[in-house]
Amino acid sequence: MSKIARRKFIQLSAVAAAGCLVQPGREARAQDLPQLAEDDPLAMAMKYVHDASTVDPSTRANPAAEQNCANCALIQGNDGDEWRPCQIFPGKAVNANGWCSVWAPKG
Ligand code: SF4
Repeated sequence: MSKIARRKFIQLSAVAAAGCLVQPGREARAQDLPQLAEDDPLAMAMKYVHDASTVDPSTRANPAAEQNCANCALIQGNDGDEWRPCQIFPGKAVNANGWCSVWAPKG
């Protein structure tokens, strides 16, 4: 390997290694996020609860029967995970069985 080729190889290796280090932080993973607390000020403002079955359906703005975080348009992360990111509460994970007043049906 020539000196220049060797230098290029080392540079590319360094870039690839840096890419590996950056990769895990690119998208927040639910298991790394702290769980949203029901007494968090923003959670309280949005009436968030961990268990949607505790919410009286008649108090919901949207009358759709089955409402929880798992079937909300704003949920993120992977189907089946108990705690998942939500677009309304950045940096926190919400419970898949939870609910808040921003609930919206999936398109
Ligand atoms: Fe759950 Fe949707 Fe409210 Fe997020 S916006 S907390 S996913 S109901």
